[in-house]
Amino acid sequence: MAEINRAVKGTNDILPADSHNWQFVEGKMLEVAALYGFKEIRVPVFEHTEVFLRSVGDTTDVVQKEMYTFDDKGGRSITLRPELTAGVIRSAIENGLVNGALPVKVCYIGGCYRYEKPQAGRLREFHQFGVECIGAASPNADAEVIALARQVLRSVGIEKISLEINSIGCPECRKEYHKALKEYFSANIEALCGTCKDRLERNPMRILDCKSPICSEIAAKAPVVLDYLCDDCREHFEQVKAHLNAQNIEFTVNPHIVRGLDYYTRTVFEFVSGDIGAQSTVCGGGRYDGLISQMGGPKTASLGFGMGIERLMLVLENQKAELPEAPKTDLYIATMGEKAAIKATALCAALRDEGYKAETDICGRGLKAQMKYADKIGAKFTLVLGDYEIENGNGKLKDMTEGTVTDIKIDEVVEELGEAIRLQIFKNIAEIM
Ligand code: ATP
Ligand code: MG
Repeated sequence: MAEINRAVKGTNDILPADSHNWQFVEGKMLEVAALYGFKEIRVPVFEHTEVFLRSVGDTTDVVQKEMYTFDDKGGRSITLRPELTAGVIRSAIENGLVNGALPVKVCYIGGCYRYEKPQAGRLREFHQFGVECIGAASPNADAEVIALARQVLRSVGIEKISLEINSIGCPECRKEYHKALKEYFSANIEALCGTCKDRLERNPMRILDCKSPICSEIAAKAPVVLDYLCDDCREHFEQVKAHLNAQNIEFTVNPHIVRGLDYYTRTVFEFVSGDIGAQSTVCGGGRYDGLISQMGGPKTASLGFGMGIERLMLVLENQKAELPEAPKTDLYIATMGEKAAIKATALCAALRDEGYKAETDICGRGLKAQMKYADKIGAKFTLVLGDYEIENGNGKLKDMTEGTVTDIKIDEVVEELGEAIRLQIFKNIAEIM
């Protein structure tokens, strides 16, 4: 197939047959976020490359291997966002949000770009829903953000998903930990991949997140950061757990979670599904108390998460969760002749004004083809208009699911359709009860 007919490797189209599922899921995300006081923020798809180097970290896989970076025509180095936290924080500093009333609670939905090996649940363009809670140091903020993520997952129908949490401490407790890691990995240096050999000096914690099987095997037995937490970090983590318990949120402590981005401190967490194979982390997040000052803003304790929407969709599919049906056309008006087409235009306009989904033929097709189309799109009701119907003002409204036909007055089509739909709803309710 020619390239002009083929999407770029690792990208997906969201087709009209599926887009209502995305609208449903995204609607729930914003709705639940609002319950916790989070408002939507929209930031550009690209930023100065420096924004990601400074925040995500130059020893991470994302920066070393996965970014879409290019020079624009003005010679600036630009990068398509691999995640949204960096851009959101850049915006919060630039627009002075970090100097206003804290905490600033924002959420976002948007595309992310990473040059990765495409496979199920791993794409080059994917979408994230996420939140950032800027200026909240207390452990109940961690529990609140985790609760929000869990409520989003539940609201779309995902009950079966596990929460794993860990604390990776602050720069203070990490000094000792880095020493222990260096010692451990130095003893295994020959077996490490090239990237990790380089990481050993600069950022040994990154080795724990390496995807290469040999490095992962060595990392599995490495010292864990939980054993090196300072008193403050340990107490913070205890309080996070207490606030999770207070909301009956089940979790397991997984001391091996370190997260793939450099900016995390203290609490890190993941929601992991057993249903979608190797790419099992649907949501990942944590605290990043040092990030805002690192990016040139005031020292501001903050935290957030990113949730992969494609992975969430995979879980819904694999758990066979019930999603709302695609919205159907309420009335399709089939027409015969010019006069009928004009009348149908007027009726459709009146119906749409009242909030009904109305359609009529716009292809100049014959009656049979029009009815076939009405059936294909799953129209709930149809009305056939010809010269005869227009002259005597009466028509037949056909209920396409029941097959029943009702005589209606054409000029009262808005009320007649409303009544027919009401009757159908009552009937559905009666059947359920
Ligand atoms: P992984 O370990 O699977 O590579 P990550 O640690 O790189 O994930 P984050 O940067 O924390 O992921 O992004 C948050 C979420 O975004 C992930 O938990 C996942 O659901 C989703 N995600 C990340 N990368 C991709 C991708 N390439 N394709 C689809 N979803 C992704
Ligand atoms: Mg990754």
